[in-house]
Amino acid sequence: MADVLTFTDRGIYCPAGDFYIDPWRPVDRALITHGHSDHARPNMGRYLATIGTAPVMRHRLGEIDLQTTAYGQVMQIGDAAVSFHPAGHVPGSAQIRVAVKGEVWVVSGDYKTVADGLSEPFEPIACHAFITECTFGLPIFKWTPKDLLTTQINDWWAVNAAAGRTSILGAYALGKAQRLLATVDPEIGPILTHGAIEATNEVLRARGHPA
Ligand SMILES: [Zn+2]
Repeated sequence: MADVLTFTDRGIYCPAGDFYIDPWRPVDRALITHGHSDHARPNMGRYLATIGTAPVMRHRLGEIDLQTTAYGQVMQIGDAAVSFHPAGHVPGSAQIRVAVKGEVWVVSGDYKTVADGLSEPFEPIACHAFITECTFGLPIFKWTPKDLLTTQINDWWAVNAAAGRTSILGAYALGKAQRLLATVDPEIGPILTHGAIEATNEVLRARGHPA
């Protein structure tokens, strides 16, 4: 049995379907896990992504040849059956499942197994091979639990507000910024966002997200 996916100098490639997943160099057909710029790059011939990812990609990449798909919908591409499944990373983010002659491989993209109240929750997919991103997998990364972090951020802001100081939080415009907006307590004071975040919020609001 040949490999369902292989690594090339352009990215992860599926010979049976003649497509790439999140390629980093221009290719004819790119399947995109989510809208972050290290996964959805410009200059691909054709793109395929989830309905939830499409508005962010159009916002960031402009006029592109983009086909969309719903979570769980199976598409035949050459000899490969392809479907996208929630990755829990940012709204619209997907793992991509590729099945060739009964052999199933899954590419995680960026993913998060803890629900964030914003992204579609991560869905475990049975497979023979799982290609995982592991950005923060090293044991040196230890994250503060969400509830404690929420308290810390709001306490810090409240103390600053009482002292007449403005509080500034930096966060990636897609994903982290919306999680922060859902975290900070609007009772403490007015909340303003940077223009890049507001532009992303506009795209998400149009999709029905409370950003
Ligand atoms: Zn990402």
